[in-house]
Amino acid sequence: MWSLPDIRRLNEEAVKNASKLNKALETGYLDGIKIKCDWCDKPAEHIYPWYDVFSDIPKGIIGLCEEHDYYYGSPSEGFFICDDCERVLITNYTWELYYTDTEDGERICLNCAFDRYIKEEKNWLTSIKELSWQRVRSSPHIIPVSGNYWENFLEFVNNVEFDSLTGEKITGFSSTSSRGDGLNELRDLVKQALKNHKKCILILDAAYQFAVSIGVYVKK
Ligand SMILES: [Zn+2]
Ligand SMILES: [Zn+2]
Repeated sequence: MWSLPDIRRLNEEAVKNASKLNKALETGYLDGIKIKCDWCDKPAEHIYPWYDVFSDIPKGIIGLCEEHDYYYGSPSEGFFICDDCERVLITNYTWELYYTDTEDGERICLNCAFDRYIKEEKNWLTSIKELSWQRVRSSPHIIPVSGNYWENFLEFVNNVEFDSLTGEKITGFSSTSSRGDGLNELRDLVKQALKNHKKCILILDAAYQFAVSIGVYVKK
């Protein structure tokens, strides 16, 4: 549970299984066996394909009886429904969560959160003066470790890792320097990005147990 599965292999297997899963969704049978509830042995009354944030192909099926449909979660424990793309997604493979809760009380997957964020002009930096610690701290977590959805839209400039508890920059094994160093390093990256691009954007592009990575990105 705590180490990330091989995402590429997972995606390849999903492609191989796609027609089998689609058929199961249509017929209620998987490999010739009637799909049962994940929580009891009753036949499943509700069958959902589930996704992750790493591809657009379902990774598996959730079967639920009438009683257990939405009983342990939405629609089941370990899953959520994205309010934007309306798919059922797995909440996490490691302790990094694949959703974000908005101020309006919506739960959206990181890919939909990414779409929303880069669409907002105010989230882009057009001048080095706009870079502040406040801004760094409020960079949203919208790219997961090993995620590649962003590659359709952005180019990566570089990143700085910060200790997630104190905001201090992580420089290597068990040593942290001051928050100011990290901010200075980010300032250099933003400068570098703005040399060749009109604007750039800060994204929390990996959340580890004790550290976060803030990446600088430009439009493709
Ligand atoms: Zn059940
Ligand atoms: Zn979504």
